[in-house]
Amino acid sequence: MAMIVHKYGGTSVGSVDRIQNVARKVKAARDAGNQIVVVVSAMSGETNRLIDLAKAIQERPSPRELDVILATGEQVTIALLSMALEKLGCPARSYTGQQVHVLTDSAHNKARIRDIEGERIRADLDAGRVVVVAGFQGVDEHGNITTLGRGGSDTSAVAIAAALKVDECQIYTDVDGVYTTDPRIEPKARRLDRITFEEMLELASLGSKVLQIRSVEFAGKYHVPLRVLSSFEEGGEGTLITLEEEGMEEPLISGIAAQQDEAKLTILGVPDKPGVAHHILGPIAEANIEVDMIVQNVAEDATTDFTFTVHRNDYERALEILRATAEELGAREVAGADDIVKVSLVGIGMRSHAGIAATMFATLAKEGINIQMISTSEIKISVVVGEKYKELAVRSLHEAFELDKAPGH
Ligand code: ADP
Ligand code: ASP
Ligand code: MG
Repeated sequence: MAMIVHKYGGTSVGSVDRIQNVARKVKAARDAGNQIVVVVSAMSGETNRLIDLAKAIQERPSPRELDVILATGEQVTIALLSMALEKLGCPARSYTGQQVHVLTDSAHNKARIRDIEGERIRADLDAGRVVVVAGFQGVDEHGNITTLGRGGSDTSAVAIAAALKVDECQIYTDVDGVYTTDPRIEPKARRLDRITFEEMLELASLGSKVLQIRSVEFAGKYHVPLRVLSSFEEGGEGTLITLEEEGMEEPLISGIAAQQDEAKLTILGVPDKPGVAHHILGPIAEANIEVDMIVQNVAEDATTDFTFTVHRNDYERALEILRATAEELGAREVAGADDIVKVSLVGIGMRSHAGIAATMFATLAKEGINIQMISTSEIKISVVVGEKYKELAVRSLHEAFELDKAPGH
């Protein structure tokens, strides 16, 4: 007998019919002799609806109260799924995050899981029940309801899987696995049979929303076998997220990610002297704004230009702060743009191969796409280009690196 966590996302539980479909899948897995814990998201669109309700009252809702309202979305789904299971004659019980003690820190709207008490879940499993747990939510040490950030049900599922030391954590979603790039952008994208934690982590951080970043981090850290599968199609193998295996030939590039929610800021003509970078980014950090890419140009006339990117939500605030800094530093000008997209190539095979960047830049140049910023690490190369080039950049790179073909073919 295996113990398995199933996680179903918003689209998969988006209607009563779909919830009944999920119930059938869960029942089939249980009838096959497994112990099943199901983690569910809110019905699709529900979390956005709840955020809009809160925003209709407060432009920046109180993070604590926002979590109270957000957690209701998942509570609806757990009850409906348990009812659907009972209707099929499959004993089930639903629990909120609080009821199974998903203990988190107190960072409302982006809380991190610290601990989960597996006993209650185990007792139900041993009594032959399917346990249905609300994803995305937890409780802090003071009893406040918290949520884990958008897409956080993935992390709930992996954390429960780690706490129970289950045999596999299966993420059921509206695609049948992890693809070489978002199949909505490039229909020729190819499903990967397996991908390493390291690559998946990069792809998730660089904009592939198929798994929440923290769920991949968690699975890597606690060695949770993780698989992405379709909730609509039967029988596929999906994509297994694995550790890198010694001696295995890794493809050069595993995937392409595109991230559209960044904005770029530049301060031009700042004096080129020690401490300037700190003077520019210090106030940004103090305002709790996270900086992603940073580029500083070579100084020619004892001044330099300094460019960085932030989340688009922080753009206006960052611009205001930068204008104040520019005055203090006697800089020439502040400029910014929020119509940008970051396109990234990810692959473990990149480590041992030169020339990937050259091919990437040549491909973009051939399409007439201007590169505004570049950053690289051991297993990724990212470029910032105009937002309108998103599809063209992804598709031309997908073709240039022949990602539609299985490696070795
Ligand atoms: P869920 O509601 O089940 O959590 P999400 O919308 O969060 O589903 O994630 C699934 C979506 O992720 C897919 O519909 C797909 O458009 C998108 N996606 C982005 N990049 C990839 C990728 N590399 N492989 C597969 N899906 C991807
Ligand atoms: N319902 C939450 C969201 O929409 C969590 C999730 O779907 O994973 O972000
Ligand atoms: Mg998701």
